[in-house]
Amino acid sequence: MIKGIFPVDKFNKIETPFYWYDMDLLRETLGIISNECRNKPFHVHYAVKANANPQILKEIAAYGFGADCVSGNEILRALECGFTPDKIVFAGVGKTDREIRIGLDNDIFCFNVESKPELDVLNALASGRGKKVRVALRINPNVDAHTHKYITTGLNENKFGINEQDLPEILQMIRTSSHIELIGIHFHIGSQITDLSSFEDLCVKAAALQEWFNSQGVALPVINVGGGLGINYQHPNHCPVADFEAYFRLFEKYLKLQENQTLHFELGRSMVAPCGSLITRVLYVKEGMQKKFLIVDAGMTDLIRPALYQAFHHIENISSEGDYMPYDVVGPICESSDVFGEERMLNEAVRGDLIALRSAGAYGETMVSQYNCREKPASYFSDSL
Ligand SMILES: *Cc1c(COP(=O)(O)O)cnc(C)c1O
Repeated sequence: MIKGIFPVDKFNKIETPFYWYDMDLLRETLGIISNECRNKPFHVHYAVKANANPQILKEIAAYGFGADCVSGNEILRALECGFTPDKIVFAGVGKTDREIRIGLDNDIFCFNVESKPELDVLNALASGRGKKVRVALRINPNVDAHTHKYITTGLNENKFGINEQDLPEILQMIRTSSHIELIGIHFHIGSQITDLSSFEDLCVKAAALQEWFNSQGVALPVINVGGGLGINYQHPNHCPVADFEAYFRLFEKYLKLQENQTLHFELGRSMVAPCGSLITRVLYVKEGMQKKFLIVDAGMTDLIRPALYQAFHHIENISSEGDYMPYDVVGPICESSDVFGEERMLNEAVRGDLIALRSAGAYGETMVSQYNCREKPASYFSDSL
């Protein structure tokens, strides 16, 4: 495993900025997750939106994981990269007719339904194809994930999911929808969750909801607790793998499964964030009044997380062993929010040095934009560079 040690000589021959993926770390992570789920009724569906790079997807599919998709094109991409339809789940508040048809035509495992009107459309489209569609209800558990407000999704006043008080009416609808088969309940409370007690709250809520369904004479073979496990962005070298053991143990302890019930997870960030870095080059060292700015050739178009939700990425100068000094690391885009980090202690930098923005494997490359007519960054892999 490479811990902050990059093949700088090889990097120097490549045009920057680019994404670099440590495939050994990815495989180590996937192996740990596989082990944790072995001999348990646990199924992990990788959240494709975190990183949809085909090389990454193929690697994850090869370990036998399923896919969690939030668009029709993600379903198609997942299928192309080797995920099997019987392990694909499809979530999203705004599924179009075309996207629903993609799911139906490929006989995916389950649609995670987020509203009453979606249920109606799904029933009608399935009926048109003479199919019965498996559905899990995405329920808003009203659990606080204690994370940034843009990435919390499980509170009541939120565009995602179905509120608890609507469940009796929804269950009635399902009973009269001949092309819908209710197989489970689904939750997703947010992302970058490091306080695991939020998942304990979710378990308590899931157990209570399942009891209610049972009291209505409905068995639920599938419980899907979504994703959201966070990673350590501060210390990518010391903590390169999330604490999957504690995570899975928590669900084992707090969510008692019924006979023949399976527990499903939709992990995204924790599977792929640590293995990716965005590598960029120093264009200019600019002396401000009090500050020194490193102006680099990557910008918010290549990695938007800092600008979008004040996210922290560890930053290293991988070309220099000089003294540490504080720099503001900024991109070239014409937006004041195009800042990767302020007052970061980096080895003394000169024009041409390579800078690594760490833990960028999730919500990095997938969120690239072409604002300012920028090129998309390329991607390279440790085992083929
Ligand atoms: C984004 C998303 C996930 C993955 O979240 P992570 O925080 O990356 O683990 C899982 N399920 C759904 C429905 C999502 O929208």
